[in-house]
Amino acid sequence: MPDAAITIVGGGVIGLAIAAELAPRYSPLFVLERNPRYGQETSARNSEVIHAGIYYPEGSLKAQLCVEGRELLYNLCERNGVPHRRITKIITATKKEEEAELERLYAVGTANGAPLRRLTAAEVLAMEPHITTVGGLLSSSTGIISAHGLMDYFYHAVRGQGGEVQMHCTVVGIAKSSDGYQISIQEGEQVSTFTSEWVINAAGLEADTIAGLAGIDIDRAGYRIHYCKGSYFALPGSMQSLVQRLVYPVPTKHSLGVHAVLDLGGRLKFGPDVEYLPDRILNYMVDPSKRAAFAESVRRILPMVRDEDLSPDMSGIRPKTQAKGDPVRDFVIVHEKERGLPGFINLVGMESPGLTASPAIARYVASLVAA
Ligand SMILES: Cc1cc2nc3c(=O)[nH]c(=O)nc-3n(C[C@H](O)[C@H](O)[C@H](O)COP(=O)(O)OP(=O)(O)OC[C@H]3O[C@@H](n4cnc5c(N)ncnc54)[C@H](O)[C@@H]3O)c2cc1C
Repeated sequence: MPDAAITIVGGGVIGLAIAAELAPRYSPLFVLERNPRYGQETSARNSEVIHAGIYYPEGSLKAQLCVEGRELLYNLCERNGVPHRRITKIITATKKEEEAELERLYAVGTANGAPLRRLTAAEVLAMEPHITTVGGLLSSSTGIISAHGLMDYFYHAVRGQGGEVQMHCTVVGIAKSSDGYQISIQEGEQVSTFTSEWVINAAGLEADTIAGLAGIDIDRAGYRIHYCKGSYFALPGSMQSLVQRLVYPVPTKHSLGVHAVLDLGGRLKFGPDVEYLPDRILNYMVDPSKRAAFAESVRRILPMVRDEDLSPDMSGIRPKTQAKGDPVRDFVIVHEKERGLPGFINLVGMESPGLTASPAIARYVASLVAA
């Protein structure tokens, strides 16, 4: 008998959501997290937006799990007191040429299951009088959430159902054994091993490393992760009432565009930009010299913002499976039995909308385990 039924590598929002879903059915269940606390990496460094599911190709896992996750998330938040707000969002076209893109987004988003309404310029301005617009889209199901509040909820759900979340615990080896996997963990100076029937790789920025430890050729599989940083700049408190909801420009090929994000405390910030990093160092410093470029992007939406109104805020790093310039790729959520690894599930490239989708991802993974 293996020591554990399920071992989840990574205590971010996705690992914790999966653990909360599986803990009532499988025991012993472990979540292994290398940091002193759960949720200190990408899950703590994002826009905290509950996405509606507008942008993703129809039929993709991103589209399907975002729409399903959004509804599960609102339900879960309401039932369990997780801080959130259905704040809504406007995508604004700032010039005539962008209106065709709005039409495309309306068609894709509606097909995905995102409730959308086309707005005239006058309708946009009645809602958001300070923004530049020639017309827009209103997304009524977009919201904001406390990512830490959500992770605290999942963490306590795991613990309350007999699961264990082990912090300061780095997975350093995975070997196939007769009845599952032998997992090597490092806690401080000490390395030890145990066995687990299932391994679920939810290691975020290190998901490719974990897949590699299990013997997968990550380049052949298309699992290599490219670090893509997104920085934010904030406006001062005196300017925070410039918008009442989230306001996005029409997206570019590689990002949703620098947009206005409000958090639950009412702070207004703009971001994230897109910066592929040359190495895999977790450097979250926001480069102050980006201010002029940010201000220019912000003025597309809010023309009264001056360079000096913006100050460097926070950043996060997207775990992208596509290299710079490559077409957008879908989430990878695969039971690797075809690669000779039955009982090993990889989650790779879990960028946005991973926070929104987390409860639906958890159900999806549970269905792979039960199949
Ligand atoms: C700038 C930015 C903005 C975003 N905005 C949004 C948004 O508004 N809405 C939305 O839905 N999504 C958003 N996302 C995406 C969302 O944040 C992620 O999809 C989600 O947080 C991923 O969660 P995770 O659990 O996979 O990863 P993580 O939070 O990175 O968790 C992985 C964990 O694995 C641990 N780990 C790694 N290696 C090991 C090891 N060897 N042993 C033990 N533990 C290990 C890490 O320490 C980490 O805690 C955004 C992302 C970014 C970067």
